[in-house]
Amino acid sequence: MTSISRVSYSMRSNGSSPANNRVFFFVALLLLVTGCEREQLHHRQLIAFGTIVSLQFSGVDADAADQATTALETEYRRLEIDWYPWARDSSGELVRLNAAIRDGRPFELSEQLQTLIVRAAEIEIASEGRFNAATGALTRAWGLHDLENPPTSKPDSSLLQSLVNSNLTLENLADTNRNPLIEVDLGGIAKGAVLRLSAEKLRVLGIGNAIVDLGGDLIVLGRIGDRSAVIGIRGPDTDRALATLDVEDGEAVMTSGDYERFIEFDGKRYPHIIDPRNGQPVLHASSATVVHADPLLADAAATALIVGGIDEFDDVCRALGLKYAMLTSATGDQRLTSGMAERVEWTRQ
Ligand code: AMP
Ligand code: MG
Repeated sequence: MTSISRVSYSMRSNGSSPANNRVFFFVALLLLVTGCEREQLHHRQLIAFGTIVSLQFSGVDADAADQATTALETEYRRLEIDWYPWARDSSGELVRLNAAIRDGRPFELSEQLQTLIVRAAEIEIASEGRFNAATGALTRAWGLHDLENPPTSKPDSSLLQSLVNSNLTLENLADTNRNPLIEVDLGGIAKGAVLRLSAEKLRVLGIGNAIVDLGGDLIVLGRIGDRSAVIGIRGPDTDRALATLDVEDGEAVMTSGDYERFIEFDGKRYPHIIDPRNGQPVLHASSATVVHADPLLADAAATALIVGGIDEFDDVCRALGLKYAMLTSATGDQRLTSGMAERVEWTRQ
């Protein structure tokens, strides 16, 4: 089975339909199934988090596949609300947390969100601030949080500089004198968390062979048919796979890129990943892919690699302990860890 890994994701609770979702057609076209004809293979799709979620189950019957799909969808509907920071109403937990931070009020977090925020804070420190989920105010300042109502001008540079200087960090979120400018935005790590929850849920349901694919960011459980899952990594400017690799039980493949979500001013694109060190959208890197048994780390690390760019590729890989990572710059330069270089097979373009 081959599935194409690509970039497209934002946690959102509304406003996206299959018709206006650019992802839909693309993923449907690129899911190729090979070599599993004799196995019981079931494919299900649903829309969640503003993207196509593609579920592939191997070695179970159709009823089990349906039950698992329903169980996952129930969980996704809750997380779409609770982990989406940009909703105008206050039904979601993250919206309520951000309001409490802004107003200086105490807030009791659910254990699930607390665990996720603690992990995001750890990766913020390990990545030396390249990954920083406390920087929602920068995303908001650039208007990158609401692409259906794109801004007409760039934000004021003094606003950006004051946010950068104000030490936005998740590190001391529990302090009563925390920075009220912090807006928690888990968009750079949430899909990893969703994938880990999905894997846990499927295992509890007795499903040991599956792929859960959130618009190209995915986790593999077990084997598909009689072999490992083969995942295609899409190139930045093409719908075709740049390379493929065998993915083992429990591994996630996460990709971040500059080409799915962006705003435009004067014909210039400003992508959705922001360097917290200067408040600017990152223009120098195009696509980063990380393979790791910890989907949260893989997700956050792909974002951090984009921020660091080619020059800091080795530093970020070392700091986060990445064995399998690759990065393509905006000009097409490529860097791979030696482990990744050994694993990928380049396709002919
Ligand atoms: P990803 O596609 O995983 O790279 O996540 C990108 C999303 O994470 C953006 O749409 C923002 O919501 C958020 N984000 C942007 N820049 C950063 C950053 N430097 N660190 C953490 N999250 C970020
Ligand atoms: Mg990420």
